[in-house]
Amino acid sequence: MIDRVKRDRVIIEPFRIKAVEPIRMTTGEERAALIEAADFNLFALKSDDVLIDLLTDSGTSAMSAVQQAALLSGDESYAGSPSFFRFEAAVKDLMPFKHVLPTHQGRAAEAILFSLLGGAGRKVPSNNHFDTTRGNIEATGAAAHDLVIAEGLDSESLHPFKGNMDLVRLEAFLTQHGAAVPCVMLTVTNNAGGGQPVSLANIRGVAEIARHHGRPFIIDGCRFAENAYFIKQREAGQGDRPVKDIVRDIFGEADGMTMSAKKDAFANIGGWLALNDDALAQAARSRLILTEGFPTYGGLAGRDLDAIAQGLREIIDENYLRYRLRTCAYIGERLTALGVPIVKPTGGHAVFLDARRMLPHIPPLEYPGQPLAVALYVEGGIRSCEIGTVMFGARPDGSEAPAAMDLVRLAIPRRVYTQSHADYVVEVFEDLVADKNNLSGYRIHWQPAAMRHFTAKFRPLQAA
Ligand SMILES: *Cc1c(COP(=O)(O)O)cnc(C)c1O
Repeated sequence: MIDRVKRDRVIIEPFRIKAVEPIRMTTGEERAALIEAADFNLFALKSDDVLIDLLTDSGTSAMSAVQQAALLSGDESYAGSPSFFRFEAAVKDLMPFKHVLPTHQGRAAEAILFSLLGGAGRKVPSNNHFDTTRGNIEATGAAAHDLVIAEGLDSESLHPFKGNMDLVRLEAFLTQHGAAVPCVMLTVTNNAGGGQPVSLANIRGVAEIARHHGRPFIIDGCRFAENAYFIKQREAGQGDRPVKDIVRDIFGEADGMTMSAKKDAFANIGGWLALNDDALAQAARSRLILTEGFPTYGGLAGRDLDAIAQGLREIIDENYLRYRLRTCAYIGERLTALGVPIVKPTGGHAVFLDARRMLPHIPPLEYPGQPLAVALYVEGGIRSCEIGTVMFGARPDGSEAPAAMDLVRLAIPRRVYTQSHADYVVEVFEDLVADKNNLSGYRIHWQPAAMRHFTAKFRPLQAA
């Protein structure tokens, strides 16, 4: 040992690169023309015209060599494929539920679940419902309620588990609405609340309250491994436990789960619904056959089931998870040092920029997230996602109101980018910060009736 003084070394990407995908380089001038042709909507860009794509971490993971090999062992039999049994065993190894139904995405699992549990007058509490979960609940006539702790709504709070459910409010909610509540949901990590984790103690608390009121407890487990590693790092008594044991404890508390394999299963497509209740699972299987497929493939090809099975073995690798959470923390620390306001602490899968605080000269109804996202693209070829008044500001009657916050999300695809990509992103911010007072707002020139952020056309307002 040469160095007597122990230094904290850089946490390296815990993988080597075996297959590469070239990035098509563009200039700022080209990008300025491309975004104008896209009516200043980043969803309308071709991904070939993006250098660093941080639009989402969903379905964008890099598969490992072993996962690629698993694709070839996929068995495409209609019924009873061994791929299904490998998938089912891998899920049950981490999440000990009795019934596992493969679906093509997380939202298909939600649609099946709430076609059975939803309905007019029903009320479903969660910490924060993800937008597809909310959509699937509301589509049945039921209502989705968010009961996250107060710290979860404060972008400056450094609470270690800002995704926690407010147990006092949950207890009161169930006491008041008990009969109208078909299940209690909990999203780990809390995506809509900034990718913030939920503690094991809180998960146990939710389970106990749900049990006491005789209501099933369903976990939206999309980022379960990131959540488990936060528990290991931050929760008293958990630091020496294997992540796999923590994962099993999390799901051991629940009666079922919905999952998007496009997140913490390293897959490009897929999901599942898992349940313990035999009658509910039987009803779900009947729906699955109608809308997705036969129960041993659901909405997936055999090869996808094998990629998920292998992905689940890889996602709980603690070297990977340490690197994964460090990536967001590293970008967050460097942006904070530049004076860029972000949601703190950084979550597991993304860094959220507070555009309203960064660009106080742009009022919410001129969409401060939009000029920031456009500037990131023109300046650096970086694609991000506005999560603010563009996404949430339209009301059914055609009027508009500012969203609670105007955020821009930099979502980090799993195992795709290296530290030099992260350093590049930070460098682009150095230039943006110097120039931020020259950014001006946008108006919406055209928008559809619903989900306007995907297809709206924008026009820049003149610089002040
Ligand atoms: C992505 C996501 C979903 C929906 O999954 P899809 O595979 O995109 O349909 C549900 N809940 C959370 C928390 C998610 O992040």
